Amino acid sequence: MPLSSEQIAEIEAERAHTRATLRAVSEGMEKHLYTAHPVLDHGFVRVVDYMGDDAAICQAARVSYGKGTKSVQNDAGLIRYLMRHWHSTPFEMCEIKLHVKLPVFVARQWIRHRTANVNEYSARYSIMDREFYIPQPDALAAQSVVNNQGRGEALSGEEAERVLRWLREDCTRAYDHYEAMISQDGQQGLARELARMNLPANIYTQWYWKTDLHNLLHFLRLRADAHAQYEIRVYAEAMCKIVADWVPQTWAAFEDYRLGGAALSRSGLACIRRMIAGETVTEENCGMSKGEWREFRAMLDEA
Ligand SMILES: Cc1cc2nc3c(=O)[nH]c(=O)nc-3n(C[C@H](O)[C@H](O)[C@H](O)COP(=O)(O)OP(=O)(O)OC[C@H]3O[C@@H](n4cnc5c(N)ncnc54)[C@H](O)[C@@H]3O)c2cc1C
Repeated sequence: MPLSSEQIAEIEAERAHTRATLRAVSEGMEKHLYTAHPVLDHGFVRVVDYMGDDAAICQAARVSYGKGTKSVQNDAGLIRYLMRHWHSTPFEMCEIKLHVKLPVFVARQWIRHRTANVNEYSARYSIMDREFYIPQPDALAAQSVVNNQGRGEALSGEEAERVLRWLREDCTRAYDHYEAMISQDGQQGLARELARMNLPANIYTQWYWKTDLHNLLHFLRLRADAHAQYEIRVYAEAMCKIVADWVPQTWAAFEDYRLGGAALSRSGLACIRRMIAGETVTEENCGMSKGEWREFRAMLDEA
C-alpha cells in the first residue's frame, strides 16, 4: 500500500478544509493538491503546496522586460517567447513542494539535482518500513549490449523467476536482521543509524522536495527522457501530468521547445542546410564524429 492510513486521513482532512484566499490559484493544480499519485509498487508523488501560475510568469516577465514585452500580445505568446529565448527567470517565480516516496537507489539519482530544497525521512531517528521495490516482470530487463547505461529485453522464464526470488529473499533477510539488530528485547539494541547500513538500495524512503518551475522543467527534461532510467522516469512522468495541469501554457511551450524540440550543433545545422540544398550528406562527409552522426540521424528519424 503506497500510503499509510494516517497519511490518507491527513490528506482527506487537508482536502476537506477549504479556505478563501486572495492568492493566485491554478484551477488545474487544485485537484492535485495533497492527492497522492501512485508510482512503482509502493511509491507516490503528491503536491503539498505550490505558488504561482502561468499569469505569474507573465507578470514577472512584464516587470522584468518592460516595454520589450509589449510586442507580445497574449500570455501564451509571451511564455513561448520566454521559453524559446531561454529567458528563464520568470519561470522561477512559480514554486512547487512535493512529498515523494521512492526507492533509495532512485533517490540517489534524484538528489543530484541540487537546485531544490529537501527534507528526507531520518533513518537515524525513525525505523524504516518493510517496503522494497520489486520490479514488474516487464521492467526486469537484461543489461543492454549497445548502451552501458541502459537495459535491453525483459528477462524471462527461469532467469526472471530466479532474479525475483533472490530480490525478495535478500530484502526479507536484510530487513529481518535490521529488525533484530534494533530490537531492544531485553538488550540494548544497535543504534538505528548503524543498523540501517544493512538495508538494500531498493528500500523506500520519503522526502519533501521543493523547487521552482525553471529547475523543475530542467529535471523533467532530463528525467522524463527516454535515456533516463525507467524507475526515475515514471516519477518524472507523473510530475509532467501535474505540471501540465498547473501551468498549461508553460507546459505547451515546454513540450514544443524542449521535450519535442532538439538542440543542433553548428555542424548539424550545416548538414541540414546541405540536405535542404539537395546534397547527399553521409557519415563520411558530415564533419561529425561517428557517435554524433548516429545521434543526429536518430534525431531526424524521430521527427
Ligand atoms: C541520463 C543521465 C545519466 C547520468 N549519469 C550520471 C553518471 O553516470 N554519473 C554521475 O555522477 N551523474 C550522472 N548523471 C547526473 C548528471 O550529471 C547531473 O548531476 C544531474 O542530471 C543533475 O543535473 P544538473 O546539475 O544540471 O541539475 P541541478 O543540480 O539542479 O543544477 C541545475 C543547473 O544549475 C547549475 N548549477 C547547479 N549547481 C552548480 C554548481 N555547483 N556549479 C555550477 N553550476 C551549478 C548548472 O547550470 C546546472 O545545470 C546523469 C544524469 C542523467 C539525466
